[in-house]
Amino acid sequence: MSTLALAFDLGGTELRGALIGRGGEVVARVSEPTMTDAGSEAVIGRIIALADKLLDDHPQAKVIGIGACAPGPLDPKAGIVIGPPTLSGWHNVPMIDILSRQFGLPVRLENDANAAALGEWRFGAGRGAGSLVFVTVSTGIGGGVIADGHIYHGRRGLAAEIGHMTITGEGDRCFCGNVGCFEAVASGTALGRRATQLTAPGDGSVLRRVSNDGDVSARHVVEAARAGDASARELVEAEARWLGVGFTNLLHLYSPEVIVMGGGLANGFDLLAPRIRATIEERAMQAYRDVPIVPAELGDRAGLVGAASLILWEGEPGTALAMVQND
Ligand SMILES: [Zn+2]
Repeated sequence: MSTLALAFDLGGTELRGALIGRGGEVVARVSEPTMTDAGSEAVIGRIIALADKLLDDHPQAKVIGIGACAPGPLDPKAGIVIGPPTLSGWHNVPMIDILSRQFGLPVRLENDANAAALGEWRFGAGRGAGSLVFVTVSTGIGGGVIADGHIYHGRRGLAAEIGHMTITGEGDRCFCGNVGCFEAVASGTALGRRATQLTAPGDGSVLRRVSNDGDVSARHVVEAARAGDASARELVEAEARWLGVGFTNLLHLYSPEVIVMGGGLANGFDLLAPRIRATIEERAMQAYRDVPIVPAELGDRAGLVGAASLILWEGEPGTALAMVQND
């Protein structure tokens, strides 16, 4: 059997594990709820149990290392999960130490948004690009930057926290405490909140009908817009405009060859794209306007295959393209 990596994607709600091949193929996959309330030791115990299960089920697998990703802030060099807001009770957990001692294999750790950026770059919508910005738009907004063939880490691995760039001076307060963050105005959460405020339970609106008279989510807005509802379409236009403002900043800052949009809201990419494009045409300087904005291709496996590539492709980013044989 060919060479594989064990990969883990530690999310605030779901813990995923997989065996991944050099071409980004998912050979086996498992997942379970993270249950962060049980504390970091219990969660790491379940990571180890998932790894044991994957290895037991594939005794012939030639596993050469473990690639893991987790929410930031984390220090990829030291291998420490510093203390993500979505993982309660995690403070300076030395993931690389723990896992390498347990399995006797090399372990690499990366921020989940950076890992997803790597996955889309090496195996997904960004294949072949020398520079790329990956933006995930769902509950929050996160991102990763591939600059000149490498993940751009910055000081302490904290670069590309694009959800918290200030893009306006108004609106609801972001969880970070600031007003006007990209995430606070353009995340799926923000879109759902605007739709909920615009309507009321029992008002007969399409937005409330698709949400069964509960709070309206971003997914409901996309669904109602697809059904032709005028107010949902207006909300989508406003959302796309904010995304266009944020993406314009990313074009000016990083000059990527492509911007890849992932996350839950990418399901509405076809509806959002024209206004995103128009906003970039309007706001970006001439030289940046022709950069493609494309939807992500790997869905929720982007982080897993990106993390695995840290093991399988280590030190050989230049050879990335020649080795890809998926699709
Ligand atoms: Zn913020």
